[in-house]
Amino acid sequence: MTSITTSNKKVIMVMLDTLMDKPLHIALKEETLPAFTYFMEHGTYYPSVVAPFPTISVNVESALLTGHYSDQHGIPSLTWYSQKENRIINYGTHLFDQMKLGLSTCLKDSLYRLNNEHLNKKVKTIHEELHEQGKKTASINPLVNRGNVQHRLTIPGFIRYFVSINKHIDTFATTKYVYGSLSRLNPNGKYSSIWHKYGFNNKFSTQEFTHLVNNQDIPDFSFVYLPDHDKNVHKRGPMDTKGIKDMDRNLQTMLDSFPTWQEALDNHIWILIGDNGQSGIKDDRKQAFVDLMKLLRPLKITKLSKGVRKEDQVVIANNLRSCFIYSLDTNDVPITEIVEKLKTEERLDMISWKIDEWIHVASGESKESFKFKESGKAKDEFNQTWEIRGDHSILDLTIKENDVTFGDFPDALRRLHSTLHSHEGDFVVISVKPGCELKGEITPSHAGGASHGGFHKNDSLVPMLVTGTESTPDFFRMIDLKKWILDLTN
Ligand SMILES: [Zn+2]
Repeated sequence: MTSITTSNKKVIMVMLDTLMDKPLHIALKEETLPAFTYFMEHGTYYPSVVAPFPTISVNVESALLTGHYSDQHGIPSLTWYSQKENRIINYGTHLFDQMKLGLSTCLKDSLYRLNNEHLNKKVKTIHEELHEQGKKTASINPLVNRGNVQHRLTIPGFIRYFVSINKHIDTFATTKYVYGSLSRLNPNGKYSSIWHKYGFNNKFSTQEFTHLVNNQDIPDFSFVYLPDHDKNVHKRGPMDTKGIKDMDRNLQTMLDSFPTWQEALDNHIWILIGDNGQSGIKDDRKQAFVDLMKLLRPLKITKLSKGVRKEDQVVIANNLRSCFIYSLDTNDVPITEIVEKLKTEERLDMISWKIDEWIHVASGESKESFKFKESGKAKDEFNQTWEIRGDHSILDLTIKENDVTFGDFPDALRRLHSTLHSHEGDFVVISVKPGCELKGEITPSHAGGASHGGFHKNDSLVPMLVTGTESTPDFFRMIDLKKWILDLTN
């Protein structure tokens, strides 16, 4: 059988939550993984694609779909403080956090405002760009899914029994749009009950995708998200391979829905990619957890259940291994006062804040200081130019002549610059060393397992496996994939 030329091939992108290079290679050696092996044999493997910071799914999906970091797409992270609304936004860190903040507000943030209000309308998603070209796209289960077609989400009765929320929410998404059991393609499908997280699981995503294949209705671009492996790695640590075996089974089911596996590959471009990595967390809770409430004493920190009150001085928005810390009034608590407190904790591998156009960086280990700003003589691996001053070892930069290369913190300068310009407010962003996690008011703890959100390369690098094309993105960063995918669909 002859394959269709690249220009006619439809693009199928499968995002495999927490797929990482090392465990994948170990699993390929020690386990039987027919699907991954087949893709490996017929495709090209790229071990290190840079995820945006904070390394957490909504930010990753927004960066991938818009081709920009958070300074442009406007979704700072999974949880952040909105100065405009004077409240903490939370798209779903943990049920307990959300219960304290108010479940109905959090649900509306994740089900409606994320895509329809918070995601900057000045940037377009891959779905919106392709729609303008008269092409169709599918979004199967990612949280970020903005498109041009109006859909109606139906909130399950059980949720409405406990949470005050409308039965229907209208949202703009892709032509083929799956959002758990709230918006589905296959009316007869399984795996969508409350016990199956209302369809936010690998089997449901897989079944919805194969529904498209069975109906010969695969659009020009499909984005299929498999969420399950995240929790395996959180619980059992970075080297967990059980979840990789499960994902292989999901991929087998997808391939099996085509007449043959060869036809599946011949007629489509497949992109398999992780979303973010995870760092192992120490067993000993004392060593693992950096207690922010303690570190910021005696400042008055906003309680999640109370909301921002007059007497509060500081807001914490904790994203597992990174965190935004806000001063509500810099005349009362200058950013530098917060920074000085944070610098006493040597497990903080990055502390960063902005003053005018300069981004300042410190760490809990180093007594030195470092700052940088856009445009200058120094040029990094991604052709971005910077003016750099101070001890650059804080960000593990190597500088030869004026060429900057990165070590432990991939694309460190642009990722920090964008994070500190991602939203309004006076804040410090911090990240902890591998082995550690940040402890706020509650927030889940993963001692003995793994976690993410951090700035370190453990959290920041994901593998990508591509079949059906020899072309590559300009750079191997999540933000560089949009342009490449648009080229592939042309
Ligand atoms: Zn996670």
